[in-house]
Amino acid sequence: MAEIQLRNLSKRWGSFVGVQDFNLTIRDREFLVLLGPSGCGKTTTMRMIAGLEDASGGDIIIDGKRVNDLDPKDRDVAMVFQSYALYPNMNVYENIRFPLKVRKVPEGEHDARVRRASAMVELDDFLHRKPGELSGGQRQRVALARAVVREPNLFLMDEPLSNLDAKLRVSTRAQIKNLSHTLKTTTIYVTHDQIEAMTLADRVVVMNKGVVQQVGTPTEIYDRPANTFVASFIGTPAMNLLDGVMAGGTFTGKNVVISGLDGADGPVTLGFRAEDASLCAEGDAQLSAPIYALELLGDATMFSIKAGPALVSVKAAKDFRAEIGDMVYATIPAAICHLFDAKTGERIA
Ligand code: ATP
Repeated sequence: MAEIQLRNLSKRWGSFVGVQDFNLTIRDREFLVLLGPSGCGKTTTMRMIAGLEDASGGDIIIDGKRVNDLDPKDRDVAMVFQSYALYPNMNVYENIRFPLKVRKVPEGEHDARVRRASAMVELDDFLHRKPGELSGGQRQRVALARAVVREPNLFLMDEPLSNLDAKLRVSTRAQIKNLSHTLKTTTIYVTHDQIEAMTLADRVVVMNKGVVQQVGTPTEIYDRPANTFVASFIGTPAMNLLDGVMAGGTFTGKNVVISGLDGADGPVTLGFRAEDASLCAEGDAQLSAPIYALELLGDATMFSIKAGPALVSVKAAKDFRAEIGDMVYATIPAAICHLFDAKTGERIA
């Protein structure tokens, strides 16, 4: 079992703040994903939990025990990185076995544990190969097996899929999900890929510039983003965000007028998702503008229109026929609109 509490965890280098007052309890057996753009502090947070980086402030508590001053090897944490860091001269079997030797696990247990771990990642047939004789995906699975073999309390994974091609990323992602379900080990997983976060996580932590923006289940984060940063980071395409003014429950922006909203008068940012707008007749339109670009997705057509400076995405049926420059008319139900403070970007409705 492993419950991890982070209390005001911070990292500073001189005056630069890498991570600021990170507070969270990661539940036993939870799959937690740290998500955010490059440089937002994900890796630094993870390295502090692993003990590879000293915290500048705050506490890291694993199962009720403060571990800030413990060496990495005494934290019972196994890490998987984007670079596989395998030993090139050892075969797959020896690579997977290596942590057992280092941790002085009785020799008699090694073979069964290596075989169990390699079977979990479907490497049984490759045990005698050297890393140089494996594909990138197979190497990444060796790295996973090497973490699994330790049967640790906590897995830390830092972008483990980023060196794989798109297809392999999907299948390895499924394998990681299955492993975490089978092993029931608490996992903290770092990625900048929101699809990876949404598909793997029990809960997602969205970070920006060292500060936690929102913590929630994938559904909560998708359906109720806490601010415009989260709204613009989650979803493919990201939420449409339009600046405008509210007056008497009606939002007016460039090419957009939506009534029946619940919000105080004044400048706001309105958000809605591409799939929530529907095409309609000109007379019923709340949004009207010429098509700027069209993308055929196979199961749907995505098109962009220019509403003032903002590019707005709208999803239509796959047989939607139109050309760049054609006018489109859409309705946007008030009930699915999100309102954010125009200055702070924080959600107001
Ligand atoms: P990526 O997705 O690119 O790996 P990240 O979210 O994991 O990004 P971190 O590696 O945690 O980001 O870095 C957070 C910030 O701290 C970055 O702006 C980075 O430049 C800075 N940083 C990291 N290590 C140091 C260091 N040793 N000295 C000074 N600044 C650092």
